[in-house]
Amino acid sequence: MTSDVLTSSTDSSSAPFDTDVLVVGAGPIGLITAAALRHHGVACRLIEQRADTKAYSRANNLWARVQELLTGVGLRDALAEQAYVVTEARTVLNGRPVDPVALDDVESPFPNALYSGQDVMETTLSDLVADRGAPVERSRRLVGLEQDAEGVTVTVADAGDHDGDSDAAAGTERIRCRYVVGADGSSGQVRELLGLPLETESFPGRINRQVDAKLSWRRSTEPDHLTFFYYQPNGFTGVLPIWGGYHRLYFVQDDTGVPDRDPTLEEMQALAREVTQDETLTLTDPIWFSRNRFSHGVTSHYAVDRVLLAGDAGHLTMPIGGQGMNAGIHDAVAVAWRLAMVLAGHADPVVLDSYDQERRGEHARLDHQQARGFKTTVERGKVTDLGLDAASRFVPGIGSLIQGTDDLQQLSVHYPDSALNEDHLGGRLLHHKAPKAGERAPDARVVDQHGATTHLFAHTQNPDGWTWGWSLLAFDGGVEDPQGHRAAAVDAVSPWAWVRPRLVTGASTTPPAGGGVVELDDLDHVAHAAYGLKERPALVLVRPDGHIAYRGSADDPGRLVDYCTRVFGPAGGTPA
Ligand SMILES: Cc1cc2nc3c(=O)[nH]c(=O)nc-3n(C[C@H](O)[C@H](O)[C@H](O)COP(=O)(O)OP(=O)(O)OC[C@H]3O[C@@H](n4cnc5c(N)ncnc54)[C@H](O)[C@@H]3O)c2cc1C
Repeated sequence: MTSDVLTSSTDSSSAPFDTDVLVVGAGPIGLITAAALRHHGVACRLIEQRADTKAYSRANNLWARVQELLTGVGLRDALAEQAYVVTEARTVLNGRPVDPVALDDVESPFPNALYSGQDVMETTLSDLVADRGAPVERSRRLVGLEQDAEGVTVTVADAGDHDGDSDAAAGTERIRCRYVVGADGSSGQVRELLGLPLETESFPGRINRQVDAKLSWRRSTEPDHLTFFYYQPNGFTGVLPIWGGYHRLYFVQDDTGVPDRDPTLEEMQALAREVTQDETLTLTDPIWFSRNRFSHGVTSHYAVDRVLLAGDAGHLTMPIGGQGMNAGIHDAVAVAWRLAMVLAGHADPVVLDSYDQERRGEHARLDHQQARGFKTTVERGKVTDLGLDAASRFVPGIGSLIQGTDDLQQLSVHYPDSALNEDHLGGRLLHHKAPKAGERAPDARVVDQHGATTHLFAHTQNPDGWTWGWSLLAFDGGVEDPQGHRAAAVDAVSPWAWVRPRLVTGASTTPPAGGGVVELDDLDHVAHAAYGLKERPALVLVRPDGHIAYRGSADDPGRLVDYCTRVFGPAGGTPA
């Protein structure tokens, strides 16, 4: 699709391009971005100022939606090999256990959260990205960046062996590329060089202290659950599994009298015994102590022309709720399929422009939600404390109320205002749960042409050579289609080879269409119900990241053609 060295005719870009995309920073987000770009066949390089992978567990979880996204770029299974499957969140309110929350109650092929360690995941990803032809170029630090109409020129210096802290700018190199993805974290340079602000709000007076260690106590140490303790006054503790047989214990509390240094093993054990009311609790073999305070914020934009931001480079999340890295993985996947399409010449500018709009909007929403959640559950005052105490006695399901899972597992992430959305079914009397344009396209069980039970996802996530392919789900609504509207829609999108049609048939009397089109039987209307399309013949176009782009009536394929022309460029032509 793209070549390693490309040339351009304009002044500033008269030098050949060294690569199509330069990814800056080999934290989890840079690694996933580069791996996804390579998966899509894009020529890219990945530079990292650190000489080695950073130690410590930090982000240790992968939520359901993120596992779906990682599957789409062929990364999930390798990460799952060194991760625990977590099925339940347990809550103890003022010493009283309340109802446990099943983490697998969400509609996803991967309902269970995975718990590992960020260092473990980064090592696996470094190997994977090297296998895919973009090895991490270590001890290379971005120090300058200039962009023009055709590309970006990046200045890279040798960062030596100093984990990037050195100012020494030896071994300077200039890299010419078409696009840059700044995945260089919260203290990186790319956002600053773009002049984008990141205003943050702090929550003073609170501190989080944590330890990763071997744990023994009177509760189970099986790594299949999380345990949270809420206690007065406004204390909050979590116990989470860490790959290798360790547990992370973290304690959020008032900072009055807490020394401004990392905690010791003795301090952590004493605090843990007090919080859990378990005098047998013992911590040994510590591998990480840390402390942090709370602040959060989002940058004003995630892209300026040819330079795009991903992960912590654009947002500062609070280390609660396990959302930061997971939110960044959405960025990595979102930027990779867009760049692949643009570089292949199959995308109108709206495709790349929508990255900033969608991801900036979603980060702002998450940021707001986290700050609100922090105030009610972590920075709670006396009244909330008393309310929680009463609720633990009298409110059934209080555990679920505190730890909602659909949101937590990021399945509800959607892009209501995306320029890529077109929804022509809005005015109809559809099932209220029908996912709309911008929302996640749900999975559902269906039956293939050979009578085998399969899933929609198997036919939308990478089933062919188009790793960034789109899928057209043509539902008959469970009613016969004597005029062949669905066949007309399949014909209508044929000029855009990466749009793969799937006929989802609910009417038992409809004969197979034949002609090589994938047909999926849904005679029990499971898929129709998931899309709210019973008795509504409809066309649903699904993007490479599994979000719905377009919904329209099956008898109006012309509208779908207009959509494809707007987003991909004219049939048979190259977009502007
Ligand atoms: C204590 C703690 C607990 C956390 N827990 C969770 C959790 O449970 N779940 C969750 O989802 N998230 C969690 N997070 C957040 C998570 O760690 C971050 O969101 C994640 O590391 C972001 O990844 P990133 O790749 O964007 O940035 P980083 O991990 O910061 O990586 C950026 C990389 O860019 C490199 N770099 C910087 N500048 C340059 C340059 N100029 N040139 C070349 N390279 C450069 C850096 O050396 C670094 O390796 C936690 C964070 C902390 C601190």
